[in-house]
Amino acid sequence: MNEIKLQEIKEKALKDHIPIIMDETLDFLEKILSSKKPKKILEIGTAVGYSAICFSKYLDKDGKIDTIEREEERVIEAKENIKKAEVQNKINILYGDATSILPTLKEKYDVVFIDAAKGKYPFFLKEALRLLEKEGIIIADNILYKGYVMSDYNKHKQRTAVRNLREYIKEITENPNLDTQILEIGDGLAISKLK
Ligand code: SAH
Ligand code: MG
Repeated sequence: MNEIKLQEIKEKALKDHIPIIMDETLDFLEKILSSKKPKKILEIGTAVGYSAICFSKYLDKDGKIDTIEREEERVIEAKENIKKAEVQNKINILYGDATSILPTLKEKYDVVFIDAAKGKYPFFLKEALRLLEKEGIIIADNILYKGYVMSDYNKHKQRTAVRNLREYIKEITENPNLDTQILEIGDGLAISKLK
């Protein structure tokens, strides 16, 4: 991977206000991913490809990432970035809404990274569980959503997102097949390992 290009991609994304993965989140995931060495990663929410490019470093030999994005402009930029970073042989972008793409997927994944529409997290979880390999890991970003999820203030316009993030947390903590940790890293990170 081309690290200089990666830095340029990150700086442009930040300048364009693309909500890319936070440094401290990435640092934390680095430990998990480098010990797991996934063969297949599924990402929901590509944006401009920054997190997928970062994750590609931790893939097993011949490992692959499938990543889903619904905004055409972002898909175009992500493709350019992936090429710039010289990881086009490792990352495959699926263009479309994850709610329609996920049900068509059949192959299993070692890691699923959920980082898209917060109101859809419970649906993404259901699909992630269906697509997860044994001992696979589901990682969900922005799970505490600026603190709204753990506060009792319920009147903000992000109400639906908050309700669904709470539902996601309830499901992962109550599911007896999952070992779950909710961490106050970045905007909140949930790590759920399939037992
Ligand atoms: N993972 C990226 C950031 C993703 S930002 C990184 O860290 O670099 C979230 C992205 O998810 C946005 O680009 C948005 O367009 C996309 N998105 C949101 N809901 C989606 C959906 N239902 N299907 C596909 N993409 C979605
Ligand atoms: Mg995020």
